[in-house]
Amino acid sequence: MKEVKAAADLKQNPYETFLAVMEEAAAKMGLAPNDYEALKYCERQLEVSLPVQMDDGSVRVFEGYRVQHSSLRGPCKGGIRYHQDADINEVKALAAWMSFKCAVANIPYGGGKGGIKVDPAQLSAGELERLTRAYTAAIAPIVGPDKDIPAPDVNTNAQIMAWFVDTYSKISGKFSPGVVTGKPIELGGSLGRREATGRGVMISCRELMKLYGTTLKGKRVAVQGNGNVGGIGAQLLVEQGAIVTALSDVSGAVFCDKGLNVDKIMDFAAKRNLLKDYKEAGVRFVAGAEGNAELLAADVDILVPAALENQIHADNAASVRAKYVVEGANGPMTKAGDKLLNEKGVVIVPDILANAGGVVCSYFEWVQNLANYYWTLGEVNAKLETQMVSAFNEVVALTKQYNCNFRTAAYISAIKRITGARKLKGYFL
Ligand code: NAD
Repeated sequence: MKEVKAAADLKQNPYETFLAVMEEAAAKMGLAPNDYEALKYCERQLEVSLPVQMDDGSVRVFEGYRVQHSSLRGPCKGGIRYHQDADINEVKALAAWMSFKCAVANIPYGGGKGGIKVDPAQLSAGELERLTRAYTAAIAPIVGPDKDIPAPDVNTNAQIMAWFVDTYSKISGKFSPGVVTGKPIELGGSLGRREATGRGVMISCRELMKLYGTTLKGKRVAVQGNGNVGGIGAQLLVEQGAIVTALSDVSGAVFCDKGLNVDKIMDFAAKRNLLKDYKEAGVRFVAGAEGNAELLAADVDILVPAALENQIHADNAASVRAKYVVEGANGPMTKAGDKLLNEKGVVIVPDILANAGGVVCSYFEWVQNLANYYWTLGEVNAKLETQMVSAFNEVVALTKQYNCNFRTAAYISAIKRITGARKLKGYFL
């Protein structure tokens, strides 16, 4: 496999990337210095050590985090990531993006995020359960249905949320399904939650095409990451008539000029298979980072990076040929990558708008838990559609009002709502 060069800007602290974008938006909208200063810091950062008994009897201690960026608009909300590279600065950035995402989508939440430094693929199911329960107990004092509500993120899923609910409910002495979202349906999960982020990505792509006087029909799309966001997003894009010509995962990328059979690929992936083992006539596979680099440079109309952060950076942004980039992942491009794409005239729908469908549906799940009354799939999808289209249109209006790109406009939308709440509440804590 050819070595793919790593850009220097990849070393940038992701929280500083967040601050740099916020600073640009603050300058554009003429934000008062006091309001800007108050937005720069996370409210609370918790670091925990998690001793876990492994199957062989040894004890390993894992590092975990929960960061609450802002609770000005409501309880904090944001996922939990299990990844070997998780660190406090990444979690801080992800928490801040959640505050901004909830504000752009206009749901009554602040932002938080959690993480454990672990490669879950190296753990047995029993070890994963013990780690999850240890983490839940360690962060229990600062989470809760009316304080901070976690959810799945990279490498965490509905089963992990079920362990979280069970542990938290036992600690608090009452069944508390509203403490996390993204739960299994049997434990108070919402219909439509699994597909909601991908659905939101599809809606963002569709509304973007509408804005430019066209539709998704026949548009060529490349999607990086075939997980919850990318894989489901790709399926829904195909349903709208788009042609997905490239799709990837951590093992590499598959390409087919006539369009991939995404449903078939997702059935294959659902059995925990990696794309490197996918075989179909007319489908070409390129392994690892090289495959992903080729995907990012694919000759398509729309590129959807939906894997991890920092995928488009100073060294590869020039190779991007798509006219539109819709960010399925959180922070999929570095500041330098973003600047280069903007200079090329690429239209970018930022993460805090494009992938907000997941948190919007998480909000619906929480509302159903608190009311103990459950909606049909049709009701969930209709409400998601309304919320996403309205957020998209508000951001478009701000691009015109401030003569700026989508990312700056989305940040302006968020800053207006968060500082609006701050003004009403004042500066007590
Ligand atoms: P996931 O674990 O379901 O899927 C991630 C995908 O990315 C997998 O296909 C994996 O193989 C691939 N991947 C991992 N490392 C890669 C690499 N180095 N190169 C190429 N592909 C790689 O995760 P997900 O839930 O789909 O989340 C993806 C992104 O979307 C993350 O940035 C996450 O924070 C963000 N996000 C997720 C949700 C949600 O509801 N799941 C909501 C908003 C944002």
